[in-house]
Order: sequence, then structure tokens, then C-alpha cells
Amino acid sequence: MQYQTTLRDAIAFEGAGLHTGVTARVRVLPAPAGHGLRFRLDDSVEFPARADYVLDTVRATVVGVGAHRVSTVEHLLSALLGCGVDNALIDVHGGEIPVEDGSAKAFADAIDAVGIATLHEARVRWIPAETRVFRDGDKMLIVAPASSFRVRMMVDYPPPIGAQYVDVEITPEAYRAEVAPNRTFGYQHEVEGLLKRGLAQGGTLENAVVFGPDGPLAPLRSESEPARHKILDLVGDFALLGAYPQCEVIAIKSGHKLHCTAVRELRHDLGESAAVTATS
Ligand SMILES: [Zn+2]
Repeated sequence: MQYQTTLRDAIAFEGAGLHTGVTARVRVLPAPAGHGLRFRLDDSVEFPARADYVLDTVRATVVGVGAHRVSTVEHLLSALLGCGVDNALIDVHGGEIPVEDGSAKAFADAIDAVGIATLHEARVRWIPAETRVFRDGDKMLIVAPASSFRVRMMVDYPPPIGAQYVDVEITPEAYRAEVAPNRTFGYQHEVEGLLKRGLAQGGTLENAVVFGPDGPLAPLRSESEPARHKILDLVGDFALLGAYPQCEVIAIKSGHKLHCTAVRELRHDLGESAAVTATS
């Protein structure tokens, strides 16, 4: 039997967001069993970290209620789910989660620094009753029942990234070592376009991997850093299920939009073909 967890103490981050460049303050506070992962924005609104609250998925996942919204939640949510934190209140002032180094490493390190407390209630798991397939053009996501949470990610980008395949069983240990340190990435020729559209205002070579025609402009942290970052993003989006995913996800070229569509539909299935269980 696995038990629910929370943080032993609060963790805090302050800094600029990748897309808006605006500074935000974030505190992640311990929470009791059954609370789940929840957001509180600007001392005004509070809501669960669930797909129903996703407002936008263009390049980053944006959640909120009405005028209160926060962008780029996926890396922080990824670290919480990846490190095995079931319950926490994410208190945000400002419109975007700080980008840190473009990966989930700062969040995972902060979680490790305070430690994880085990609570006295069984972990709530989400187990699909059957295999489901989601498609969007040439992107595909297959979600199948499994004994643990495993992600198989296949990407196929224009040169110099090319095709990459990475398979990770998302245990806290594997997440910290093989997923969390991998940074967001883009192409040199895209950067100008992003700035024109008002995105990536906070992007620098310090918080993103930029690929020029001949390769990355700075050393990679792993040969398959782009595919591993896509796993990081997927784990963050699957945190929006609202329960610990016990499933295998086969992802082909998928991104935030398809992840969020799938998670929203899978949440709708909860009463019918899938089961949320509090047993081991
Ligand atoms: Zn990302």
C-alpha cells in the first residue's frame, strides 16, 4: 500500500516567466490528505490542479478562473507529481511560474531539500479500465492500464534534433535523475517569431536549449534532452488528472494541447470506464 504525501515544509520561488518575462512569486505549502494539488492565485481564487481549469495550451499550459490565470504551470506540477507529492497548495502572485533554468530541476531540488512527509491515508490512483487512443494530426497519445506510471516518448523534429525515443518508469528516483534536469528547447530561427507573438520574453540561453543549424548553441545535459523534456511536460500535464496516474503512456510527437485534451476526456471517463481507487 502506498500512502499519500505532502511537503515537510513550504518551498518558495521568485523570478521571471519564460513567455511573459514578468516576475512572479510562488510558494508551495504542505496540505493535508485528500486536499490534492491546488492553486491559489493573487489571494483571490482557489481551485484544484485539474484539466477543467486549463484555459490555454499554446506553448505552455495556462490554468485559472476568470481574469485570474497563471501560465507555464507544467514544470512545477511535473516536479510535484514526479517526486511523488500528492497534496500541496500552490500559492501564486504574478501571471507565470518562474522559468528557473528551463527544467524542473530547481523545483525537484527544493522538494528534496525540505523532504516529503507520509500521511495516513492511501494514495488515490487513477487506473484506466481500457486502452484509449487520442490523435491530433500526426500526433498520437495511447494511454493503457499498467502496474506503474511509465512514459514512452517518441519525437521527430527537423534537423539537427531529429528522431528520439525515451522510455522512463516515473519513480521519484528515475524522475529526479532522468527527467527533471532536461530543459525546454527551441530553434534559433523560431526565437524571433516567438518574440513577435509576445512569447519567450524571458527566454535566454540560460533557461532554454537553443538549436542552431549545426546543433545546440550550448552543451546538452543529455543526448536526448528534447525528448526527455517532452516527458517532463507530459508528467506535468498528467498531474491535471487529479489522481496519481497508474498507466502506461505512449506519446508520439504529442504536446500540451493533446495531453490536456486527453486528460480532460480521461477525467470525464472516471465514472464509467475508469476507476479511481484508494487501494494499493
Ligand atoms: Zn516544458
